[in-house]
Amino acid sequence: MRLCRFDDNRLGLVEGDQVIDVTGALDAIPAQTWPLQPGDPLAANLSAVCARVTEVKSGATAHSLAGVKLLSPIATPSKIIGAPVNYSAHADEAKADQGVAHGQTILSIEEYGPFLKASSSLVGPSEGVGLRLTDRRNDHEVELAAIIGKVADRVPEENALDYVCAYSIGLDMTVRGKEDRSMRKSIDSYSVMGPWLVTADEIDDPNNLDFSITVGDEVRQKSNTSYLIYNVQKLVSWCSSFYALYPGDIIMTGTPEGVGPVTDGDIMVCEMEGIGRMDVAVRHA
Ligand code: MN
Repeated sequence: MRLCRFDDNRLGLVEGDQVIDVTGALDAIPAQTWPLQPGDPLAANLSAVCARVTEVKSGATAHSLAGVKLLSPIATPSKIIGAPVNYSAHADEAKADQGVAHGQTILSIEEYGPFLKASSSLVGPSEGVGLRLTDRRNDHEVELAAIIGKVADRVPEENALDYVCAYSIGLDMTVRGKEDRSMRKSIDSYSVMGPWLVTADEIDDPNNLDFSITVGDEVRQKSNTSYLIYNVQKLVSWCSSFYALYPGDIIMTGTPEGVGPVTDGDIMVCEMEGIGRMDVAVRHA
C-alpha cells in the first residue's frame, strides 16, 4: 500500500495517478494522552490504519496526484538517522574531492558510527529545499529511507527487517564544510522524504533497488542499494545497538557516488524502484 500525507494533513492512498482521501482511516489511531510516546502515531499503528483504509476507500474523494501538495509521509519521527559513507564509490569520491572532504580524513562507516539529523529538518517534496549558507556547496544525497514500525532495542540482524514497516525516498541535503554533520545536515528542510511511504510487504528486497537523481538534464547519481556497505538489516541492528528505534524513526541508508551542488531554481528529480518519483524544488531560504 502507498500512503501519502497531502495538503492540510490529509491521509492519501496513492493508486496510479490518483490520491484517494482516506483521512477517515486515521480513526484507527488510539487517542493519545500526555506525555506522548516517542515516535510517529501513523507508523506505530500502520497495520491498523492500512486495514481501515481498505474499509473507507470506496466512495472516498479522489484527487489528481499532480494537484496535491505532498508532505513527508511521516510527520513526527523521534529521530532521523544517517549512515555516513555507506557506498564505497562515494567514499572514493569523498576522499578525492576536497569540495566534499574539506581537509578532513574520510573514515569508514564503522569508524564514524551513525549520525543524527534534527527531526525538525524534515519536509515533503512539495515543500522543497530552502538553501542557507549559499556561499557554500549545498549537495543532494539521494538515499533509500527505511521507516521503523515498532520499538527496536538491540535487535539482531537476522530479524531486523521485521522492525521496518515501510520505505520511502530520502534526500539527505548537506552543506559542505568542517562543522559536525549534525549541523550541516539539520538545517530546516535539509531532510526530504517522499513522495509517499510504501509498506514493507511491497518491497521484496530493499537491498536490490535501482535509484537515481537528475538535476536539469544531468543524471547526477544512479546506483542500486545492492552496493550498500551496511545493508538495511545491518543498519537497523547496528543503530538499535546504540539507541532504541521508535515507530516512525527514519534511517537514511546512505548515498552513492555523484553527490553534487544545487542552487536556487533547480529541480531535483528522485526515482526509486518500487517506490516512485519525487520532484523537489530548490530555492534560497
Ligand atoms: Mn547521506
